[in-house]
Amino acid sequence: MRLSLFDLHCDTAHRMLSENQPLRSNSFAVSLENAEKFEVYTQIMALWPHNCLCDEEAQRQVFSMLENLKNDPSVLQEEARITKRFDELTSIPNLFLSIEDARILAGNVDGVDRLYSLGVRFLTPLWKGHTCIGGAHDTEEGLTPFGKAALHRAAELGMILDISHASERSANEIFAIGAAHSRPVIASHSNAFEVCLVSRNLKREQIAAIVSCGGLIGLNLHAPFIGCGAHVKIQDLLPHIEYFLEVGAQNALALGCDMDGGDLPSDLPDLAALPKLAELLLQHGYSEGLVRKIFFENASEFAKKYLN
Ligand SMILES: [Zn+2]
Repeated sequence: MRLSLFDLHCDTAHRMLSENQPLRSNSFAVSLENAEKFEVYTQIMALWPHNCLCDEEAQRQVFSMLENLKNDPSVLQEEARITKRFDELTSIPNLFLSIEDARILAGNVDGVDRLYSLGVRFLTPLWKGHTCIGGAHDTEEGLTPFGKAALHRAAELGMILDISHASERSANEIFAIGAAHSRPVIASHSNAFEVCLVSRNLKREQIAAIVSCGGLIGLNLHAPFIGCGAHVKIQDLLPHIEYFLEVGAQNALALGCDMDGGDLPSDLPDLAALPKLAELLLQHGYSEGLVRKIFFENASEFAKKYLN
């Protein structure tokens, strides 16, 4: 069976800028060449600034990253397309934009409008530590007053808020902001905490909250978030999938592979190898319908409802 793919997270834009390689053909896990395996390919491209930069430098790096992506030969030649709405999706690869680590706003709420006007439709507010936005997964802190104002503005504009990387308190506050604007909240690249006990993974209540608001959960292929031990394989993702389904996430589950930002399982080196996960699911008795939902349909239905 030929699959379509809608992946909620990769850090390829960062590497394209820092290593000066194009999207079509490169040494990364994500490339248009590797995406040729898929019938339709939609990718949320995260614009993530390096954590060693101060907020202002990080902002400049993100704008350079976006400029670099917009001027990539494949985008200029319309072999891939930066898109903002579901009804703009085409048979050529579609790239949605997200910001990962909204500290780049550096205390300026108007920056949210600027990001929106540049085409950003997904916002992962936190990454690590305590920022002008609030506390990330490695803290106990919630959102700052500025963080709340910025996220309210983002939701009002129609951006999708993402709890991946948030602390529990920040995540609860993000859910409340989404609800206040009748917008769903996603976790673009996180697995199940009960299966792999790391703070980047989702607690049962968080999974239930995403399911009930109509959000999405992207399965993360970063090996340390799948399992402990040195030899994580793709089949170690199965208990996560089983757990998410048990909590009722069959219409929320998607992929948020985190390629080019994480360490992939040894038997799944790049995007072209991803159909192996589909084969594995079929071998373990999951239906073709469910596999298609996880790979593409849940995220595409979501985009149809909330990005139009
Ligand atoms: Zn991340």
